[in-house]
Amino acid sequence: MSKYVESVLAQVRAKNANEPEFIQAVEEVLTTLDPVIKVHPDYEKNAILERMVEPERIVMFRVPWVDDKGVVRVNRGYRIQMNSAIGPYKGGLRFDPSVNLSVLKFLAFEQVFKNSLTTLPMGGGKGGSDFNPKQSPHTPGKRCSDAEVMRFCQSFMTELYRHIGADTDVPAGDMNVGGREIGYLFGQYKRMANVWTGVLTGKGLSFGGSLIRPEATGYGDIYFAQNMLAVNGDTLEGKNCVISGSGNVATYAAEKLMQLGAKVLTLSDRSGTIYVADGMSEKMLKDIMTLKTVKRGELAEFAKKTKAAKFFAGVNSWQVADKVDCAFPCARQNELNGKDADYLLKHGCKLVGEGANMPSTPEAIEKFLGAKIMYSPGKASNAGGVATSGLEMSQNSERVSWTGEKVDDMLKGIMKSIHDNAYEAAAKYGFKGNYVVGANIAGFTKVADAMVAQGVC
Ligand code: NDP
Repeated sequence: MSKYVESVLAQVRAKNANEPEFIQAVEEVLTTLDPVIKVHPDYEKNAILERMVEPERIVMFRVPWVDDKGVVRVNRGYRIQMNSAIGPYKGGLRFDPSVNLSVLKFLAFEQVFKNSLTTLPMGGGKGGSDFNPKQSPHTPGKRCSDAEVMRFCQSFMTELYRHIGADTDVPAGDMNVGGREIGYLFGQYKRMANVWTGVLTGKGLSFGGSLIRPEATGYGDIYFAQNMLAVNGDTLEGKNCVISGSGNVATYAAEKLMQLGAKVLTLSDRSGTIYVADGMSEKMLKDIMTLKTVKRGELAEFAKKTKAAKFFAGVNSWQVADKVDCAFPCARQNELNGKDADYLLKHGCKLVGEGANMPSTPEAIEKFLGAKIMYSPGKASNAGGVATSGLEMSQNSERVSWTGEKVDDMLKGIMKSIHDNAYEAAAKYGFKGNYVVGANIAGFTKVADAMVAQGVC
């Protein structure tokens, strides 16, 4: 590793000692950039790495709200505005008790490179709160009511609205922030700002949302896998696939896999994993989507009612199937470790396509790269969501709505470009087939060049 990269990493570790996820994400990117840093001395001269690891701005705020029993509750809200060199900040909002500065800074950092890879003009940001919509504050085992979620979202936006805007910062959904939450957040933004703009993406279709946006991250993950397989003259047809998660990304990845003739063997959630040895049916998937998005229930309940599904309580998706061709981690960060990677490789896995952000631990990534299987990091293969958010922003600016077919075709085209750019960047620097190096270098250079051109700011 070059002295420059080493010294920036040392600074990051010292300055952010209590932010392990952020350090992990920075290490993952910076340790792959040597080849490009060597041929661009101007990056060091302009302190590009030092500036990239420091958010342009962090907003942290109190979110007071009143629950259904009339009790005042207080959560913490955040927005990390990481980098605006190539466009307005763009990135999702996550509501989960695990949300803290480290998690959001890692997500915002990743988002900068991901957004650059999409080829669209979007900077990187991320935000959210430690609010838990899945646990009512007053009734153990119950979720927050719709009214509680609405009051929370309204309070959250009452502060956030002054920091965002269609040309400044455009948030979207992420974990536990779906159509319902985006609707409440958008309504409150409109009230506070007294302006109707596409300030959030992932909106409902009747108020500026884009067709295919809900499907885009999961579909895009699978389109990326198709592109990796195509390099080797292969397809997804008949492949045994394991997926983690059963939220937005996981279920639409499953839907696309089924449409392409692959078998979906697993989905999971916090309660455990369901395993269907012959592959899930479309009906099962539809039932799971309804369970998770309408009834907001757990897979454990689904397994009780479905004979064909085996349920493994408290276990993730990686070590339940005997034969695996492809794995798609689509739940959360660090959910696939070295032992899981060993199991997958031993049971035939030839492709890992990350739908979630940073789901594989560094140890697992090392094993995948060592085994020379097709491995795509989330910042490349899950970029379809933010890319389609970019398409939603374009439609909002033009005051038009494109057909689902048109958006899906554009998504396919963008995923192919991301794949090809990552593949070619890796090959150019002597790492053919290594999508980690390729995605990092391709995403980084565009932002770095823009920062050099814009001077010290
Ligand atoms: P959802 O909230 O819709 O789904 C998350 C899934 O992960 C749920 O099934 C959830 O289970 C499961 N999960 C979360 N935490 C845990 C845990 N501690 N243990 C076991 N399972 C867990 O989120 P999304 O599908 O939107 O996001 C999933 C991942 O994809 C995240 O990493 C996100 O950052 C990333 N991503 C999402 C994009 C999008 O467009 N939505 C875009 C790009 C990346 P349960 O239902 O029990 O909570």
